[in-house]
Amino acid sequence: MFYALVDNKKVEAFPKGKGICPSCNSEVIAKCGEIKVWHWAHTKEGNCDSWSEPETMWHKNWKLTFGIETNEVKISKGDKWHIADIKSINNVIIELQNSPIQREIIREREEFYGERMLWIINGEKFKDNFHISDYDVDLYSWALPNNKISNKEGIKFFTWFYPKTSWKDSKRNVFIDFNDGYLFWVKKGIGEKKGQGKFIIKEQFIVKYGGDFNKHLQLFRNITFTLNVNELKVKGFKEKKLYIVTYIRFRNETKCLEIYFDDEDEIFKAKDQKLVKINGNLNFEEYNDSLQLFNSKFML
Ligand SMILES: [Zn+2]
Repeated sequence: MFYALVDNKKVEAFPKGKGICPSCNSEVIAKCGEIKVWHWAHTKEGNCDSWSEPETMWHKNWKLTFGIETNEVKISKGDKWHIADIKSINNVIIELQNSPIQREIIREREEFYGERMLWIINGEKFKDNFHISDYDVDLYSWALPNNKISNKEGIKFFTWFYPKTSWKDSKRNVFIDFNDGYLFWVKKGIGEKKGQGKFIIKEQFIVKYGGDFNKHLQLFRNITFTLNVNELKVKGFKEKKLYIVTYIRFRNETKCLEIYFDDEDEIFKAKDQKLVKINGNLNFEEYNDSLQLFNSKFML
């Protein structure tokens, strides 16, 4: 989780910080390492929300879009309680999902939060397998699903190779974030090979649920580094993460950069395209004009 109570204030993790979990009241300590996003962790496991899972900068940026007071809100029903990622000002629960999730857990969460709930899924990892088309490709076989669409209006058809089938039984609205100016609202066929949906302008979505679009843009700014491929070395595993080493120039200084990846495919894709996008799966933050990279390390 990103917030704990320190002197009764909801605050983000800071180095050597100690606080109280706002949900279960147990002690938490700040984890401020280089690989994971800074967060709070319980000193004793087992008392808190069983649904909580490792979170990324993608989660954090979406949460902060709606303001700290709406983030990680404890929702109680009878003697059961869970921590919602976001409870919007119009009382809609927004659950953010970055990694694969089991069918059972989807069902449990939807039942617990009820109908005023929606999902935002990070589509970054499967966007190459998700083809959106103007036409139903079964009816117009000549219109190959090649992600070519004439506009972002109206109903679109999708073909999903290797669909995330655990979403099949979802009964709530699901929006996929492909990290551009839109969310793809799946209207039919979530978790299936074929379906329909429509593009929603991200700004309108965010405003509708009380978020701050300018802040969102600021949080999700893309910084793209061109890797110097001659100097790109695949270094293998370190702390169970693959990483590569490259050199970037920043403020007239050459710095060596280690970039960590979740899986092997991504590392070779980056090498292939000679590009690493420092956003989404890789994370960055800027502090007072000096660039600091999470999931990475400067070696001067
Ligand atoms: Zn707790």
